[in-house]
Amino acid sequence: MTRGTRPPAACLIGWPAAHSRSPLIHHYWLRTSGIEGGYVIEAVPPDEFQDFVFRLSLHGFVGANVTIPHKERALALTRPDARARAVGAANTLWFEDGELCSTNTDVEGFINNLDACAPGWDEASDALVLGAGGSARAVLFGLIERGVKRVHLVNRTIERARALADQFGASVLPAAWDELGDLLPRAKLLVNTTSLGMHGEPALDLDVGRLPRDAVVTDLVYVPLETPLLAAARERKLKTADGLGMLLHQAVRGFELWFGRRPEVTSELRALIEADLKKV
Ligand code: NAP
Repeated sequence: MTRGTRPPAACLIGWPAAHSRSPLIHHYWLRTSGIEGGYVIEAVPPDEFQDFVFRLSLHGFVGANVTIPHKERALALTRPDARARAVGAANTLWFEDGELCSTNTDVEGFINNLDACAPGWDEASDALVLGAGGSARAVLFGLIERGVKRVHLVNRTIERARALADQFGASVLPAAWDELGDLLPRAKLLVNTTSLGMHGEPALDLDVGRLPRDAVVTDLVYVPLETPLLAAARERKLKTADGLGMLLHQAVRGFELWFGRRPEVTSELRALIEADLKKV
């Protein structure tokens, strides 16, 4: 088959080639949409990344996901949209009028997951975000874009929270970890973007009993699927949205850009990825 007649394919570029759920997700959507296409993992070392990206189309790809350690570099080598610029990292690349464009789909993954799991969450005037790393930037961009008035940003290293507040503007209010207890009663939305609660990491030590009764709790960590934070929130009958939901929703846009159809995050897809996560 010549290149011109080959079915469209996308790839995930990372180094080293880590285990990723993205091929499972995109193969599921290709299969259920009846689209002939492909999605493969490409292990590309940092010193070959630029060349690989410049030759993406020659390699036969219509676009790509980019993961560690290439996400910042991808921003510099493409035409990023406002989301990728604000987050400082690109995770999805595609061609538009021959130009390689990029975005960061963690923003819509986070927001669309909340919309799906806790409609009305955006009535919260005060959100509390824990953590000031890479994923916190996507969360802040999404919350501000959606019109949340005050985002209290708590981080172990307060300087990082202050730096993000400087970048994202007056609605982001940096706070020290020991202020957490006082902030909880006014937080209608609590977001964990730290790695606390992740498999092998200490649990997040926080009393969900201090949150308002109608608070929504979301955790970006998805290994384990039910983090101690989510388990405590559910026990208290609070609405929750988990990290796997965000992971699935963030994949939607790439598929749409590469294969021309917007796919659904179905319960069948979720079950497929849950089963894979249980193998960890
Ligand atoms: P990151 O850039 O490395 O940031 C880690 C954050 O966790 C920092 O704010 C760090 O605080 C904080 N932290 C780490 N250990 C801590 C501890 N012992 N006590 C208090 N704070 C601690 O990581 P990231 O890329 O933002 O990712 C964070 C988590 O989100 C990971 O579990 C990742 O898998 C998950 N994630 C999920 C999705 C999804 O689609 N569901 C997407 C992106 C990320 P300092 O600044 O003080 O070091």
